Amino acid sequence: MEVQDVRQLDVDVDVDVVVVGAGFAGLYLLHRLRQAGIAARCFEAGADVGGTWYWNRYPGARCDVESMQYSYAFSDALQQEWQWSEVFAGQPEILRYAGHVADRFDLRRDISFNTRITAASYDAQARRWTVTTDHGDVISCQFCVMATGCLSEGKLPEIAGLDSFRGPLYHTGRWPHEGVDFSGLRVGVIGTGSSAIQAVPEIARQAAALVVFQRTPNYSIPARNRPMTPDYASSWKSIYAERRETARHTRSGTIYDFGTVSAMEVSAEAREAEYWARWNKGGANFMSAFNDIAVNEHSNHSAAEFVRARIQETVQDKALAEALTPHDYPIGTKRICIDSGYFETFNQPHVTLVDLRANPITHITPDGVATRDATHTLDAIVLATGFDAMTGALSRIAITGQDGQKLSDTWQEGPRTYLGLMTAGFPNLFLVTGPGSPSVLSNMMVSIEQHIDWITECLTYLRANAVSTIEAATQAQDDWVAHVNEVANRTLYPRAASWYMGANVAGKPRVFMPYIGGVGEYRRRCTEIAQAGYPGFALHGQV
Ligand code: FAD
Ligand code: NAP
Repeated sequence: MEVQDVRQLDVDVDVDVVVVGAGFAGLYLLHRLRQAGIAARCFEAGADVGGTWYWNRYPGARCDVESMQYSYAFSDALQQEWQWSEVFAGQPEILRYAGHVADRFDLRRDISFNTRITAASYDAQARRWTVTTDHGDVISCQFCVMATGCLSEGKLPEIAGLDSFRGPLYHTGRWPHEGVDFSGLRVGVIGTGSSAIQAVPEIARQAAALVVFQRTPNYSIPARNRPMTPDYASSWKSIYAERRETARHTRSGTIYDFGTVSAMEVSAEAREAEYWARWNKGGANFMSAFNDIAVNEHSNHSAAEFVRARIQETVQDKALAEALTPHDYPIGTKRICIDSGYFETFNQPHVTLVDLRANPITHITPDGVATRDATHTLDAIVLATGFDAMTGALSRIAITGQDGQKLSDTWQEGPRTYLGLMTAGFPNLFLVTGPGSPSVLSNMMVSIEQHIDWITECLTYLRANAVSTIEAATQAQDDWVAHVNEVANRTLYPRAASWYMGANVAGKPRVFMPYIGGVGEYRRRCTEIAQAGYPGFALHGQV
């Protein structure tokens, strides 16, 4: 294997670990590896750290898990000193936080920015990976960790004429860093997922006219975001370690007020009162009102009906309210949205909804969007059309494993992993929050930290025991995939055409990708496997 440093950069061409991606996962991994004395180099396509929060700068972007929980727990000093200004921090503040972490732990010196990994191939003889960048650098490493993000590969809509539009086209996940001024403009937003639901109220504040193109109406719960008060912050910080530990063993990695009974076990009045209490409090806690909203269709229906009623009473025009009301999939089976005035925005006279089910887009023209029945003249178009989720970033890298097999071929029928951490045939290649792990169904900070801790401890174990390769065993992987599917099929999730199912990308296999067995249960299994010396993985000694 020829190893060369084409750019003569400060890139070590021979390292223990290559980390791909400098979002929250890559940053924490660099920190842990350094602590463990393992040499690592990180490559990041963007010009700075932050991942999701570096790219998604659309107006209104903010977290939907409270910031006291959507933040790192690994350093008590960090969590004590950092002060969030709002209960749900906005994107600029979360990005500043990522930058602060990079500075505080001096991580940038091990990151090559503006550098995309294009290929990774395993040399079975040398038992090493060769990783190639878009600048032509070739790096040799023993281990490769894909911290490439589950929602980092934006998805453009397949609409004819997209390139012909004369005005600017913005994807929410690749927002210009200098911001966009929509003042006085006629703006179209295509899509009504979480990104659009956050952006629409903000764009409406500026635009002269806003047209929202909706294919599927969405359920959304008000965030009721508010400034962080010292009392609220200290209610967390005074017992932070204890709370973080509790969160690690919950279903979602988040401390919610988890209902303990079925929605069907209580009276209609008690049910309504519980929904109202949570609705008034705001946030995704609404979905935990009862313990069976995700699995029992009657319980789910009761929660969905409650939200439908709120939409109907918020939107003044009855036909418009009906068009904005979701009916044909269970609540929560597409990621629940959390909004700040989304439905209210449609009461403004300069905001229009185009229901694409009644009137589909035929094509984009140089001047706007043409639907079957009308043409909408626009100055700018926002594509809030989502991501090639969970597998998209990986599929953009030519990953070749043992015996020359390509990851894209191996996963043709859907991703197959053991624990969402490794995949058979690809030794020493780790995935962070990969398909088959709780990942996008959880507070991602908790899942990221759990994976990074597990991977670091695994590498430390391998080194201590003179093991040079670790690989998922096919049988263990098959059993895990079967378990992941079986658990998903016990829920209502597979009933929605969601990105969890790969349904938003033409030709992508319809497989429920994340593991819905719960963050706590998943952690327990991963820990047990590590403590038992990694059963289900094949370990081999030195070359
Ligand atoms: P990312 O942050 O996606 O970072 C991956 C990085 O890898 C990116 O910077 C990318 O440029 C880089 N990369 C990818 N491929 C390559 C390559 N080939 N070469 C080099 N670099 C590469 N989760 C929550 O739990 N709560 C929330 O409130 C929440 N809000 C969200 C809001 C938005 C708008 C979005 C899109 C997602 C949100 N998420 C939320 C999910 C979010 O993605 C995770 O919480 C978390 O930020 C993921 O961190 P990560 O490091 O795993 O991946
Ligand atoms: P998304 O949920 O996949 O939504 C994409 C939207 O675009 C959907 O409404 C989809 O309609 C529509 N769409 C796609 N292609 C279209 C086409 N050709 N014509 C018309 N409409 C089209 O993507 P997202 O809103 O970016 O959110 C993705 C995920 O990121 C979220 O689920 C969440 O996990 C995370 N996120 C979180 C927050 C937060 O609140 N913290 C904010 C943003 C994102 P269909 O439904 O009909 O496919």
